[in-house]
Amino acid sequence: MLDADFFRRWMTATAASVEREADRLTELDSPIGDADHGSNLRRGFAAVTATLEKEAPDTPGGVLTLAGRQLISTVGGASGPLYGTLLRRTGKALGDAGEVSEAELASALRTGVDAVRTLGGAAPGDKTMIDALVPAVDALGAGFAAARTAAGQGAVATTPLQARKGRASYLGARSIGHQDPGATSSALLIAALADVAEAAGE
Ligand code: ADP
Ligand code: MG
Repeated sequence: MLDADFFRRWMTATAASVEREADRLTELDSPIGDADHGSNLRRGFAAVTATLEKEAPDTPGGVLTLAGRQLISTVGGASGPLYGTLLRRTGKALGDAGEVSEAELASALRTGVDAVRTLGGAAPGDKTMIDALVPAVDALGAGFAAARTAAGQGAVATTPLQARKGRASYLGARSIGHQDPGATSSALLIAALADVAEAAGE
């Protein structure tokens, strides 16, 4: 079972990974965006870690809803409300249980990803974070490591796609040939989840 501390470690591991990869995320956001994805997420997840330390919610749902709210209020770019919605809606779906199973997390994460699809209007193949998140959620039934692999492959597979949503879509066919920054950061989020699960022996 996964408790609040597990979810706090997931958010802290994501913050560390985003911090390490911020320059790369911003580089990916240069040719097909406005070169701020790394700095957006670095600021957002640093605020998430600080808030979780201060408020210390004692349920998995509480950790994710607080993290999501913090991202929405800290990140100005498109990715803030989208990641914020992902975490907030996943957290809401987990309810107020003190511990949740891996299957409950998989189901809640699907609810969160569906909420991102509704908010942003992106479908798989539109070259967005959805292209990493949907394969990850589909693979989660087979375990955390499978989800990590699927998210990473989904991010890489955005390269040949033409963007149909977000800033990159303004470039039309010129968005082809570049990996999507948001799909790349989503793969980091899922990789952090798998790392924390493996460290916990899940
Ligand atoms: P902005 O585009 O406002 O500068 P960011 O650079 O932080 O915001 O985030 C860009 C990423 O957000 C894109 O790479 C893409 O993955 C994701 N994104 C943008 N619009 C959408 C959308 N409508 N649905 C899903 N993801 C989106
Ligand atoms: Mg940007």
